[in-house]
Amino acid sequence: MSLVVLMFHHVTPQKDVLSVTPEILEKLIVRFKQKGFHFISYREFYDYLNKKNTLPKKSLMLTFDDGYYDNYQYGYEVLKKHNIPAVIFLITSMIPGEKKRNLPFKSHHELNKHPDKNYFLSLEEIKEMHSSGLIEFDSHTHTHQNCVNLSKEELEFQMCESKNFIKSLINRDFYGFCWPRGRFDDNALEAVKRCGYDFAFSTIEGPFSFKHDKFIIRRIDASSFRGDEKVYFKRLNKKVNIYSSFYGNIYSDLRLKFQKLKKRFKALKR
Ligand SMILES: [Zn+2]
Repeated sequence: MSLVVLMFHHVTPQKDVLSVTPEILEKLIVRFKQKGFHFISYREFYDYLNKKNTLPKKSLMLTFDDGYYDNYQYGYEVLKKHNIPAVIFLITSMIPGEKKRNLPFKSHHELNKHPDKNYFLSLEEIKEMHSSGLIEFDSHTHTHQNCVNLSKEELEFQMCESKNFIKSLINRDFYGFCWPRGRFDDNALEAVKRCGYDFAFSTIEGPFSFKHDKFIIRRIDASSFRGDEKVYFKRLNKKVNIYSSFYGNIYSDLRLKFQKLKKRFKALKR
């Protein structure tokens, strides 16, 4: 049995970083379905994590970080059409009250530099998507704060504030967290548990495994289409194949060790 969690950000027809087009998202779904993959829901994931159920032999779960409006505008249509569940991790300070109008395209870099609430999901859109039964929501901190080197108070503010918000919106018996930019330290790991989260997603590349800390769940980044369909699917297929295989875990651990060594080597050279 294997579970691979895919990470996305934007879904938009414009070519941009951290973006896939709606067509690519649809092709991805169709292709992996044809290969015998099942797309599992957040509930199925949670029950599996707690060993309350088993999953189909080859499982995928889709996650979207940051909660961009384009997830509703373009992604939701595709997910609805194919009846595919997904989870969106919200930056809870970036939720505008009212529903959207026609917005001119803004690149990811632009939004990252100058955050604009209008480009994030509104309450109404979140509620509509959630009521479909397909889309779940969870926390990605209150302000997308990097969780490294924060004080206890700052960490608790980021984690508890956002959890309370999600809780007020969505009544579920579990709540998950997603590390902004994949960054955390020991204090952050303590805080996420103190705030009552049940698990957390990282950006460490690899499959889901019971051997890993459930507050550092691994994923595969499927965010960046970059305009070449062949290249995108070749890379993604390779990753999903490796991480769904018997060797997925070993490969992921080796890759992480190698990355850490490389970082240390770079630091030494400085
Ligand atoms: Zn993020």
